[in-house]
Amino acid sequence: MDISIFSLGQLDPASSQPMYLQIAENIAAGIRDRKIPPNAKLPPERQLAIHYGVSRTTAINTYRKLEEWDLVLTKIGSGTYVTGGSGEAAMLPMPWQQLLVPHLKGPLAGILRELLSADLSGKTISMATGTPDPTIYPATTFNDLLNCRNADLTNADLGHISTEGYLPLRTQLAALQNQKGGNATADNIAVVSGSQQGLYLLAKIFINPGDYVVVEAPTYLCAIPTFQAAGARILSLPAPGPLQLDLLEDYIIRHRPKLLYIMPTYQNPSGRTINLSERQALLALAAKHRLIIIEDDPYSDFHYDQQPPPSLKTLDSYGGVIYLSTFSKTLFPGLRIGWVVASEAVITRLALEKQYVDLHSANLSQWQLNEFLRRGSFAGHLDAIRGEYQKRRDATATALRRYCGDSLTFFVPAGGFYFWCKLTHPSATSRQLLQEATRLGVSFVPGEAFYSDREESRDFRLCFATNPSSVLQEGIKRLAKALSSLTKIWDDGARTVRRTSKPII
Ligand code: PMP
Repeated sequence: MDISIFSLGQLDPASSQPMYLQIAENIAAGIRDRKIPPNAKLPPERQLAIHYGVSRTTAINTYRKLEEWDLVLTKIGSGTYVTGGSGEAAMLPMPWQQLLVPHLKGPLAGILRELLSADLSGKTISMATGTPDPTIYPATTFNDLLNCRNADLTNADLGHISTEGYLPLRTQLAALQNQKGGNATADNIAVVSGSQQGLYLLAKIFINPGDYVVVEAPTYLCAIPTFQAAGARILSLPAPGPLQLDLLEDYIIRHRPKLLYIMPTYQNPSGRTINLSERQALLALAAKHRLIIIEDDPYSDFHYDQQPPPSLKTLDSYGGVIYLSTFSKTLFPGLRIGWVVASEAVITRLALEKQYVDLHSANLSQWQLNEFLRRGSFAGHLDAIRGEYQKRRDATATALRRYCGDSLTFFVPAGGFYFWCKLTHPSATSRQLLQEATRLGVSFVPGEAFYSDREESRDFRLCFATNPSSVLQEGIKRLAKALSSLTKIWDDGARTVRRTSKPII
C-alpha cells in the first residue's frame, strides 16, 4: 500500500494527546472514509514509524489501538490488515467521555484515586474505609438463615413487594426504634438499599437547585456530593466543639436553608457526640424556624463508655426530624439495608422517588434481616462487637500516644469507628502524610475529603474498626515513621514557604 495516503498534516507533537493515539485516529479516519479500503494490508510497523518520525514502540501502540477499535487485524507472520470492511467495523469508537454528563469533581476523587493506587497486594493496613471487620460479620447465622429461609420460599415471595419495604421488617424496625423512645409505626418506615440511598432520595425530594443545606464541617464525605448533585449550596457548621447555634440561626435568617444534615452521635469523621442540653437547644431553634433536620445515625449502637443521649428523633416535638440509619456497620455492608423514619407524608413521597431508581430493596436481604431480628439475635451480636471495638479503640489511643507523641492531637471518642487527628506541625498537610504513609504501608483519609470547601488540611480520619488491635498497632507504628520522615521537610518548608496571593493578570 502507498503509505503517502497517511497524512501527516493533522499531527501535533505539542498536544496532550499521545502521538500513538493521534496517528491511530488519523488512520482510523482514513479507514472510515474508505481512503484506506477494507482488507488493505497496512505498512509494517518499522515503515510506519519512519513515515511519522516516531519510535517503533509508538507504531506498535498505534496498531494495538486500531486493533482495540476492531479496525485492523494483525495476522502473525503476515502483517496488519484493515478488517472486513463491513460498515460496522469501519466505524470510530463511541466518544463516551464527550457524551457523558460531567461528573462533579470534588477533593474526594483525587483522594480516592490515591487510596486506590496504594498497595493493592493486601500488605497495606487500611485505616481509611469505615467498614466493620469482616471476620466478625455474623456470617454463620446469616448462612443458616438463608438455608432455612430458602426451604420456605414460594414463588410469590420472589416477586415484587412494596417499595417502602417488607412489611414484617418495617414493623420490627418501628419496634426497634420505639425501644429507644418514640412512637413509630410501619407507616413511618421506609427500607432503603443502604442509608446512602436514603440520603440520595431525601436530597431528591427536598432540594431544588440553589437551595441551601447546612452540614457539619467536617461531615460524612459522601453527603457533600449527594447534596451538591441535587443542586444544593452548602453552608458549614463547625464540628467538633460546642454546637454553634448562633451561627446556625444566622444561616437560617440569612439563607433560609432547606435542611440541616447532622450526625449527633459519634460523628463520622470527628467522633464527637452532641450532649443532651445542646440537642434540646438545637431542636428548640429548629422548631422555631420549622427547619428540617436529617439525623444520620449509623453509629449510636457502638457506645463504649456509657449510653449516648437520646436521638434527636426521640426528642423531636415539632415533627421536623427525619431519622436515617443502616445495618452496614452493625451487621455487614453487603446486606444493603438502611431505613428512614419520618412522617407518613415523607415516606410516601420518598417511596415514589425510590421507584425511579429501585422498585424496592432486595427481598432476600429483607427476609433474612427480619428473621435475624425476630430470633432476637441482634442484641447479643451488638454486645459482642461492642466489646471488641472498645478494645480496638483503646489500643489505638494507646498506640497513638506511644508512637506519635506530640506530632498530632486527638480526643478519644466515646463510641463509633473513628479517631479524628490533627497534625501539630504548622506546615504539615495530611495529604502529604498520606502519600508517605501509603508508601510505608498504612492508609487513612485526609481531612479535606470531609469538607465542602477545603483543598488542604492538617486533620485526618483513622478508622479503628476494621483491623484487630495488633494490626492497628503496627499501622500506627508505620504512621509514626511516615511522620518522622516528613518532619524535616515540614521544618524546611516552614522556613521557606510564604503563602501570598498574586493578582491573576
Ligand atoms: N451515613 C454515614 C454517616 C456513613 O458513615 C455511611 C457509611 N460509611 C453511610 C451513611 C452509608 O452507609 P450505607 O449506604 O452502607 O448504609
